[in-house]
Amino acid sequence: MPEYQAHRCQQCHQPLREIDNFGQRLRGCFACNLWATAEGATWIRLSEEDLRSFYKLRHDHEPE
Ligand SMILES: [Zn+2]
Repeated sequence: MPEYQAHRCQQCHQPLREIDNFGQRLRGCFACNLWATAEGATWIRLSEEDLRSFYKLRHDHEPE
């Protein structure tokens, strides 16, 4: 069961990230590609392509 309020990934224990997926707020783990919506019905997976673009976005805005 997804836990939107969780702070760490249940599988790899990395801190969860929040992203904005076309206006939908998602919270989840880049490493595992598991994302929960605020409503939290199910975990969802993003396509590789979407995942890469979010990852790139984050790295463009954050210094190493
Ligand atoms: Zn994870």
